[in-house]
Amino acid sequence: MTDKSKCCGCTVCASICPKQCITMQEDEEGFLYPVINKSLCIGCNLCQKVCPILNQEDERKPLSVYAAKSRDEEMRLASSSGGVFTLLAEKIIDRGGVVFGARFNENWEVIHDCTETKEGLAAFRGSKYVQSCIGNCYSKAKQYIQDGRQVMFSGTPCQIAGLKRFLGKDYDNLLAVDVVCHGVPSPKAWRLYLRDIVSDKQWINSIRFRAKSNSWRNFRLIIEGADSRLNTNELVNEKGYENKWIHAFLLNLTLRLSCHDCQSLRGKSGSDITLGDYWGIEQFAADFDDDKGCSLVLVNTLKGEEIYSGLNCDSIVTPYKSAVLKNPSLDRSVTASINREFLLSQLDKGFIAAYDVCLDHSFPMRLRRFLFRKLGM
Ligand SMILES: Cc1cc2nc3c(=O)[nH]c(=O)nc-3n(C[C@H](O)[C@H](O)[C@H](O)COP(=O)(O)OP(=O)(O)OC[C@H]3O[C@@H](n4cnc5c(N)ncnc54)[C@H](O)[C@@H]3O)c2cc1C
Ligand code: SF4
Ligand code: SF4
Ligand code: SF4
Repeated sequence: MTDKSKCCGCTVCASICPKQCITMQEDEEGFLYPVINKSLCIGCNLCQKVCPILNQEDERKPLSVYAAKSRDEEMRLASSSGGVFTLLAEKIIDRGGVVFGARFNENWEVIHDCTETKEGLAAFRGSKYVQSCIGNCYSKAKQYIQDGRQVMFSGTPCQIAGLKRFLGKDYDNLLAVDVVCHGVPSPKAWRLYLRDIVSDKQWINSIRFRAKSNSWRNFRLIIEGADSRLNTNELVNEKGYENKWIHAFLLNLTLRLSCHDCQSLRGKSGSDITLGDYWGIEQFAADFDDDKGCSLVLVNTLKGEEIYSGLNCDSIVTPYKSAVLKNPSLDRSVTASINREFLLSQLDKGFIAAYDVCLDHSFPMRLRRFLFRKLGM
């Protein structure tokens, strides 16, 4: 892997290699990249044939665009946007299917997994602003699909593009759902952030990146648990912009390199449905907005239209240009902060210390960052 900006970490190459000679290894910034054991490689080139970056699909425009809200208020409040992910997933489970999505593991790292129950969907609910580890989910999904089960696979557009390349053909019983994607932060930086805020991760009970009981727009990051040093069970309860993890995410300081030149945008992932936040809904349909969460739904295929039309939600049709106006990630990649490499190079100090030196505006710190950018020192 010579140009890291050309690898989104989808892991398809490692999953497909017939000699299992590709392993995904974490680099110093904390992202997984494929590493080949050349002594085992037979030169079959399968890894290159499946790579979604080397073999891109055409851009597509959605068939229709909706603003939508689940009628289940409790579930909508527990979701990041309007709760459409859960409505789609419940439909698949009602049909005897299996749903794949991103959840926390016991160490509060983000991984992909699957469930066959509605209760199991709770773990997938809500955005986790960290790159998730796919593990063996592509192989598992393929097995379920070939067994004839309905499968809904949800993830970032590059994970869906990877799944499609892994499967190699279309299946009627697969519903592929991606999210509008700003980019994914470093899993290593996330581990260090958690280490900074809680001395033992076992004490954490829940993490919500998009807690919105007061407001969807002014969401908060809330981490609940117990820490013997504190009198409260809220380890973190901060407004999005005031929280250092979310702020670094929004300033594009911690994203994977490939996110700054995303090759899965504009329908290239091949998903049936794309979900996002309908930012700006108050301007286009003020009556529809209650600041409790509104989904943007791009229906990309007839299969997507069939399942979406049967959902129990309030939904209005909107033009694509209204959707994209306040949600530029739909259409183009975000530009990396000039201090991205600097922050990620300082992670040995811990995440919060790296963030602090990165946002320190004193002259000596500005000079230090300048020298780092120019001379790498
Ligand atoms: C990293 C990231 C960046 C995003 N950027 C934008 C953006 O710029 N603009 C925008 O409009 N929307 C963005 N979204 C999507 C948005 O936050 C909601 O996830 C989406 O609208 C679905 O909301 P919901 O209410 O339907 O369901 P929810 O229950 O809130 O969403 C859950 C869905 O998100 C998936 N998911 C959660 N975390 C991850 C992860 N780390 N990796 C892969 N899949 C994950 C789950 O598998 C499930 O499909 C982003 C989501 C993520 C994860
Ligand atoms: S060329 Fe074939 S054997 Fe070698 S790493 Fe790629 S998939 Fe594996
Ligand atoms: S983009 Fe995916 S398939 Fe291509 S090299 Fe990276 S991990 Fe492998
Ligand atoms: S921005 Fe693109 S490359 Fe980055 S995680 Fe999202 S889909 Fe993948």
